[in-house]
Amino acid sequence: METNHAAILVVDMLNDFVTGALKCDRGLAIVPKTAELLDGARKAGVPVIFCNDAHLKGIDREFEVWGEHAIAGTHGAEVIPELGLCEKDYVVPKRRYSGFFHTDLDLLLRELGVNTVIMTGLHAHMCVRHTAADAFQLGYHVVVATDATDSFTEEDYLYGIKYLKEVYGAEAYTVSEILDQFERCAGCCGGDCAACGEGEELPTEAEYVVLNVSKKRHKIRIN
Ligand SMILES: [Zn+2]
Repeated sequence: METNHAAILVVDMLNDFVTGALKCDRGLAIVPKTAELLDGARKAGVPVIFCNDAHLKGIDREFEVWGEHAIAGTHGAEVIPELGLCEKDYVVPKRRYSGFFHTDLDLLLRELGVNTVIMTGLHAHMCVRHTAADAFQLGYHVVVATDATDSFTEEDYLYGIKYLKEVYGAEAYTVSEILDQFERCAGCCGGDCAACGEGEELPTEAEYVVLNVSKKRHKIRIN
């Protein structure tokens, strides 16, 4: 993982998803680990981007399936207080499962020089998965923080992680493994050596695809 070109994507860690309309106890359980990851990322200068449902009342398609939730401007659509939205964090409102669908997330990531997204939040097999799908298709490397994402059930969680790994070539790490990478990176050079990727030309979109494909081939070969 090139931590100098990474960003954390926090999907739907909102009041309605954790304690409100779509309450999820397993979502509440990942809050401490998620907070730890965000804290470490902010200290290491890794951007933290919240991809937040901000639905239009009475209009959005998702209500057909889930009922009304996370209406823009309401308490339910706010980031849970435990994750302490900071001034330097970014917020990308969305009206569908994917954080990329009709939002400016891709533009933001490109302006920040990001080539690797670290997926966290809810739900591993739904909005996290759909966001990871678009990230992969747009050429980003996908990493998933396994103890900072979850679903309503263990079965759905495991399915989500498996899908990300198999279909998008996602690398799966725990929060402590990710933080260890941040620390190693910041400690070696302050962000100015080849290991951190600083100073390297960002690959073009076509090169990202080649990188992903060759990595997957390699994995298949060695397994
Ligand atoms: Zn929604």
